[in-house]
Amino acid sequence: SKRIVIKIGTSSIMMADGTVNYQQFDRLAYVLSSLKQAGKEIILVSSGAIGVGMDKLYLAERPKTIRQQQAVAAVGQSEMMNLYSRFFSHYKQTVGQILMTRDIVEFPESHKNVVNTFETLLDMGIIPVVNENDAVAVDELEHETKFGDNDQLSAIVAEITHADLLIMLSDVDGFYDKNPSKFADATLFHTVHNVDDSVMALAGDVGSNFGTGGMITKLKAAKHLLKNNQSMVLASAADPTILFDILAGLEIGTYFTPQ
Ligand code: ADP
Repeated sequence: SKRIVIKIGTSSIMMADGTVNYQQFDRLAYVLSSLKQAGKEIILVSSGAIGVGMDKLYLAERPKTIRQQQAVAAVGQSEMMNLYSRFFSHYKQTVGQILMTRDIVEFPESHKNVVNTFETLLDMGIIPVVNENDAVAVDELEHETKFGDNDQLSAIVAEITHADLLIMLSDVDGFYDKNPSKFADATLFHTVHNVDDSVMALAGDVGSNFGTGGMITKLKAAKHLLKNNQSMVLASAADPTILFDILAGLEIGTYFTPQ
């Protein structure tokens, strides 16, 4: 695969104590830069604006109201991009920020524009870093503009950029027949060809405090991709060098791929 979308969750770029995991930013920048230098086209979808914002503002608890969350996300998003920009620059790479809302799904003009931006950034050798535009997106019924979670957002990004592969790096190392953080005897699926209701029913609650998606949104993303004849790997974010192994074809995590 040549064009790869990588999605990383908040819990994978923050420490358990709520501070930014700088080592993880560095490892991610190193691995993604190496892949790019080896000829891959890389798009990064990163959660974490609220987490990074909470650290920056010394907040012990997640703000309660939506407007407070949006304000913290605004602080965190620019700080997070600052971190990506600095760490990637150590490896001679430039990043460009793309903030998305559902408009790109609903309005052909917005869709065309964002696709053009992706293609042009990639042509320029720049690594797009994508997140939801939290300050703008609303989830009222009238005109819903939120994706809600970056799992599904990353599937849309992989779809509209015709990516060869979506790799989701998570606090869990794959999809199991039951929640492995609750059941010691859970067994990992190496390959999944079809995400139907019986598969969806195996997804339990979210394990981490940070994660908003859980396994259900990851399965929805996989289902979306499979429908478009695209593939997704779900693997552990603990060590980003796992990306080298995944792309070398080693059997790692769960591979969602059409039959
Ligand atoms: P991230 O923050 O990396 O996006 P989440 O914490 O939102 O990830 O979702 C992953 C979590 O989903 C796992 O840590 C686990 O607790 C939970 N989970 C529930 N059901 C399953 C399952 N069947 N297989 C794997 N993980 C599951």
